[in-house]
Amino acid sequence: MNQPYRFEDENLVISDFFNEVLVVCPACAKKALATANIVTKKVRLFCVHCGYNKEVTTEVAQHTFITKPANQFFDAELWLQADFKKERFWAYNDKHLDYLERYISATLRGHKERTHFTLLEKLPKFYHEAKNREGLLKIIAKLKNKL
Ligand SMILES: [Zn+2]
Repeated sequence: MNQPYRFEDENLVISDFFNEVLVVCPACAKKALATANIVTKKVRLFCVHCGYNKEVTTEVAQHTFITKPANQFFDAELWLQADFKKERFWAYNDKHLDYLERYISATLRGHKERTHFTLLEKLPKFYHEAKNREGLLKIIAKLKNKL
């Protein structure tokens, strides 16, 4: 029925998504955004719904990313997460979700050389299992509606 869809590991690492994290607003529980500015070394949580606005200063590693995901500076919960069986599926932002969707929906998965370092290689087993594909794609569709 479906054409085989081949996905190549783009060798992204989880820190590629650290700098922009969708979170549950600590004040109004709606969607807010935690962003890191690697030039000013500031991480900000801002909510367009209630105006919540908090900023902290941090370290920047290799001039490209902050040392932990932006949400963790505020103890803010991820906006994009859902229970899947006994596991938890989550993504930092729409690009991360999109990347996971492309990987999970692929029937053929290419890996260049394995580094055991990329985001995809580090995913828990349930993400990789073909039997979970349909269920995970349903969760992704649901989370996309929250974007
Ligand atoms: Zn808010």
